[in-house]
Amino acid sequence: MMIEFVGSDEVFRARREKLVKSLVEEGILKSEEVIRAMLSVPREEFVPPRYRELAYLDTPLSIGYGQTISAPHMVAIMTEALKVSRGNKVLEIGTGSGYQAAIIAEIVKPEGHVWTIEIVPELAKFAEENLRRTGYSDYVSVIIGDGSRGYEEAAPYDRIIVTAAAPEVPKPLISQLREGGRIVIPIGDMYVQILKIIEKRGGTLHVEDSVPCVFVPLVGEYGFKKDLWHDG
Ligand code: SAM
Repeated sequence: MMIEFVGSDEVFRARREKLVKSLVEEGILKSEEVIRAMLSVPREEFVPPRYRELAYLDTPLSIGYGQTISAPHMVAIMTEALKVSRGNKVLEIGTGSGYQAAIIAEIVKPEGHVWTIEIVPELAKFAEENLRRTGYSDYVSVIIGDGSRGYEEAAPYDRIIVTAAAPEVPKPLISQLREGGRIVIPIGDMYVQILKIIEKRGGTLHVEDSVPCVFVPLVGEYGFKKDLWHDG
């Protein structure tokens, strides 16, 4: 009989490997770098302690403040779509738990860097602690602020990922993306969106639709206005 020690590193590693294997079998995870990153980053360290045992369910989980850590399959889809590589400079809007930032950091490090912006100060602190504990602090800068305005200070970026739903692509993100760069962003209304993959080539944006998705709203200057958060 095999004894599972609840909460041990080995148990979490086995669950992580099982989840990654099923995402590969479903055809969601494809590239070597993204598979390696998802096998390396311990999701149990990015969820609130009471949800540690649920860390490898393929579902979003609450991180408080009405926000969520995205489901692993959505992190996999977005990271694959971003086509990020070692050495890239990446901007993330919507730090949340810091998990998606850690996945990208695992791919871009050691020469590359991730700047991630979070509008809820308590979540920025939560993410910073998670990133420090898991050893990603040197490769990720967490900034408190309105990410819908981007982060001019470190622009231009090779890649930009928005992990909250936006009504349209925030204009500052387009100007902060370098020529040949790529943005992955859910665009739609408050309740359902399409994941868009946008490339800047020859100064023009080329937009491709990926999958339907459901994200919490991007707020701030270029996001959804809070007084419009109602039905109809
Ligand atoms: N990427 C996160 C992770 O790995 O845990 C999940 C992101 S969660 C689905 C969306 C996050 O976007 C929330 O933490 C929310 O507070 C944040 N957010 C919403 N509007 C924002 C804005 N204008 N600037 C920065 N963060 C924003």
